[in-house]
Amino acid sequence: MLLFGQQCRKCGHTGFPRQIYGCEMCGAYGEMLAPQELEAVGVLISFAEVHRYQGGEIEAPFVIGEIRLQSGPLLRCTLDQRGESGLYIGAEMRGSLTAPTGERASELRFRLARD
Ligand SMILES: [Zn+2]
Repeated sequence: MLLFGQQCRKCGHTGFPRQIYGCEMCGAYGEMLAPQELEAVGVLISFAEVHRYQGGEIEAPFVIGEIRLQSGPLLRCTLDQRGESGLYIGAEMRGSLTAPTGERASELRFRLARD
Protein backbone atom coordinates (compact mmCIF):
# COMPACT_ATOMS: atom_id res chain seq x y z
CA MET A 1 0.00 0.00 0.00
CA LEU A 2 1.22 3.51 -0.79
CA LEU A 3 0.85 6.63 1.37
CA PHE A 4 0.68 10.18 0.01
CA GLY A 5 3.80 11.89 1.32
CA GLN A 6 6.09 14.58 -0.03
CA GLN A 7 9.76 15.31 -0.47
CA CYS A 8 11.39 18.69 -0.01
CA ARG A 9 13.39 19.77 -3.09
CA LYS A 10 15.47 22.12 -0.93
CA CYS A 11 16.70 19.86 1.91
CA GLY A 12 15.58 16.38 0.82
CA HIS A 13 13.39 15.75 3.88
CA THR A 14 10.57 13.26 3.33
CA GLY A 15 7.32 14.15 5.09
CA PHE A 16 3.99 12.49 5.82
CA PRO A 17 1.17 13.31 5.46
CA ARG A 18 1.27 15.51 2.37
CA GLN A 19 0.42 19.10 3.34
CA ILE A 20 0.81 22.69 2.11
CA TYR A 21 2.21 24.37 5.22
CA GLY A 22 5.88 23.82 4.46
CA CYS A 23 8.76 21.44 5.00
CA GLU A 24 9.01 20.26 8.62
CA MET A 25 12.81 20.63 8.48
CA CYS A 26 13.58 23.82 6.52
CA GLY A 27 10.22 25.57 5.99
CA ALA A 28 10.34 25.50 2.18
CA TYR A 29 6.86 25.48 0.65
CA GLY A 30 4.90 25.64 -2.59
CA GLU A 31 6.66 24.12 -5.58
CA MET A 32 9.57 23.11 -3.34
CA LEU A 33 7.41 20.28 -1.96
CA ALA A 34 7.16 17.42 -4.44
CA PRO A 35 4.47 14.75 -4.09
CA GLN A 36 5.98 11.38 -3.21
CA GLU A 37 4.37 7.98 -2.69
CA LEU A 38 5.68 6.14 0.38
CA GLU A 39 5.46 2.39 1.03
CA ALA A 40 3.43 1.70 4.16
CA VAL A 41 6.21 -0.39 5.68
CA GLY A 42 8.43 0.43 8.63
CA VAL A 43 9.73 -0.51 12.05
CA LEU A 44 7.94 -0.33 15.40
CA ILE A 45 9.61 2.35 17.56
CA SER A 46 7.28 2.28 20.57
CA PHE A 47 3.82 1.09 21.54
CA ALA A 48 1.31 1.32 24.38
CA GLU A 49 -1.94 -0.45 25.17
CA VAL A 50 -4.85 1.87 25.95
CA HIS A 51 -7.18 0.43 28.61
CA ARG A 52 -9.52 3.39 29.15
CA TYR A 53 -10.76 5.62 26.36
CA GLN A 54 -13.63 8.12 26.47
CA GLY A 55 -14.10 8.45 22.71
CA GLY A 56 -16.74 6.34 21.02
CA GLU A 57 -15.02 5.62 17.72
CA ILE A 58 -12.96 2.71 19.09
CA GLU A 59 -13.45 0.34 22.00
CA ALA A 60 -10.65 -0.17 24.54
CA PRO A 61 -8.39 -2.01 24.91
CA PHE A 62 -6.44 -1.13 21.79
CA VAL A 63 -2.78 -0.50 21.00
CA ILE A 64 -1.17 2.71 19.70
CA GLY A 65 2.21 2.43 18.01
CA GLU A 66 4.90 4.69 16.57
CA ILE A 67 6.23 3.43 13.26
CA ARG A 68 9.34 4.75 11.51
CA LEU A 69 8.61 4.32 7.79
CA GLN A 70 11.47 3.00 5.66
CA SER A 71 11.31 6.33 3.80
CA GLY A 72 11.90 8.26 7.05
CA PRO A 73 8.71 9.78 8.47
CA LEU A 74 7.57 8.79 11.97
CA LEU A 75 3.86 8.27 12.39
CA ARG A 76 1.62 7.31 15.27
CA CYS A 77 -1.48 5.23 14.69
CA THR A 78 -3.72 2.50 16.02
CA LEU A 79 -2.33 -0.99 15.52
CA ASP A 80 -4.52 -3.62 13.90
CA GLN A 81 -4.53 -5.99 16.87
CA ARG A 82 -6.21 -6.07 20.30
CA GLY A 83 -3.28 -6.61 22.70
CA GLU A 84 0.49 -6.25 22.79
CA SER A 85 1.08 -9.95 22.06
CA GLY A 86 3.95 -10.46 19.63
CA LEU A 87 4.93 -6.79 19.52
CA TYR A 88 8.52 -5.70 20.17
CA ILE A 89 10.64 -2.64 19.48
CA GLY A 90 12.18 -3.06 16.04
CA ALA A 91 9.42 -5.32 14.66
CA GLU A 92 8.72 -4.89 10.96
CA MET A 93 5.27 -3.41 10.43
CA ARG A 94 2.98 -3.07 7.42
CA GLY A 95 0.09 -0.65 7.03
CA SER A 96 -3.28 -1.20 5.43
CA LEU A 97 -6.68 0.43 5.34
CA THR A 98 -9.11 -0.97 7.87
CA ALA A 99 -12.85 -0.35 8.10
CA PRO A 100 -13.94 -0.25 11.75
CA THR A 101 -16.99 -2.45 12.39
CA GLY A 102 -20.15 -0.85 11.06
CA GLU A 103 -18.38 2.02 9.35
CA ARG A 104 -17.78 2.69 5.68
CA ALA A 105 -14.74 4.92 6.05
CA SER A 106 -11.36 3.27 6.27
CA GLU A 107 -8.46 4.25 8.46
CA LEU A 108 -4.75 3.50 8.29
CA ARG A 109 -3.62 0.87 10.77
CA PHE A 110 -0.38 -1.06 11.07
CA ARG A 111 0.22 -4.70 11.95
CA LEU A 112 3.20 -7.01 12.24
CA ALA A 113 4.55 -7.64 8.73
CA ARG A 114 4.92 -11.38 9.40
CA ASP A 115 1.16 -11.79 10.13
ZN1 LIG B 1 13.12 21.06 3.52
